[in-house]
Amino acid sequence: MNAEQNGGIIVTGASRGIGASTAILAAARGWSVLVNYRKDQSSAEAVRDQIVRAGGQAICYRADVSQESDVVGMFETAVQELGPVRGLVNNAGTLETQCRLEDMDAGRLSRVFAVNVTGSFLCAREAVKAMSTRRGGSGGSIVNVSSAAARLGSANEYIDYAASKGAIDTMTRGLANEVAAEGIRVNAVRPGFINTEIHAQGGEPDRLERIRPTIPLGRAGEAEEVAHAILWLLSDESSYC
Ligand code: NAP
Repeated sequence: MNAEQNGGIIVTGASRGIGASTAILAAARGWSVLVNYRKDQSSAEAVRDQIVRAGGQAICYRADVSQESDVVGMFETAVQELGPVRGLVNNAGTLETQCRLEDMDAGRLSRVFAVNVTGSFLCAREAVKAMSTRRGGSGGSIVNVSSAAARLGSANEYIDYAASKGAIDTMTRGLANEVAAEGIRVNAVRPGFINTEIHAQGGEPDRLERIRPTIPLGRAGEAEEVAHAILWLLSDESSYC
């Protein structure tokens, strides 16, 4: 596929980790990429520059996905700068310091659900508006980044985060059915234990080393390995998924 066939794609939370790897691989596959970030502008610009140096097309855009006006502005900019949006990777995600449910206050729950759930819904909404053949669009693909946590529950670490990913699984199924006849495929990946900075954010930078003996492959996954699965779901190779 070339860039013209693929069109524009928004990768949320693309300043590092799985999002950065996905943005870089998407550009290499011919997508024109909006590299979204919330805080870390210099890392987002480094991702953009790497794409451009390799001959791809990318722009950076600061938006907090939990803020409706930010999300609307991000999609407007994507269309203006990159042309029709045909892909969305709902990757931006957050978690807070590991604790038991009995120690979680309402503020924490609001912050986690605002980014992981509300943010993904808002981006999916704008993507459907941009892509649906019912609204004059030419279709596209949405990939939500869920987590194995949705299945495991993350006891003693972050049940709130796990539950937010459960919500993403439900949204994925419902939206896939809702827009399948409108040219939009909606899928999700549920990564396992991936080597990124998110574990330090939970207060345990060496978490993957602790868990490694329980992983059948004997190692954590790398962000690029998740990106390959995401790119497959974005591509026509997964046209019946
Ligand atoms: P990461 O390295 O911590 O990266 C998170 C990214 O999300 C950063 O680019 C961050 O940007 C961005 N972000 C956070 N809040 C945002 C907001 N409100 N608006 C826009 N961007 C925001 O995490 P990661 O491990 O790559 O995780 C990516 C996704 O994979 C998440 O949804 C996570 O839940 C999921 N996942 C990860 C693992 C794992 O083991 N790593 C496993 C399963 C699922 P700024 O720094 O600029 O704020």
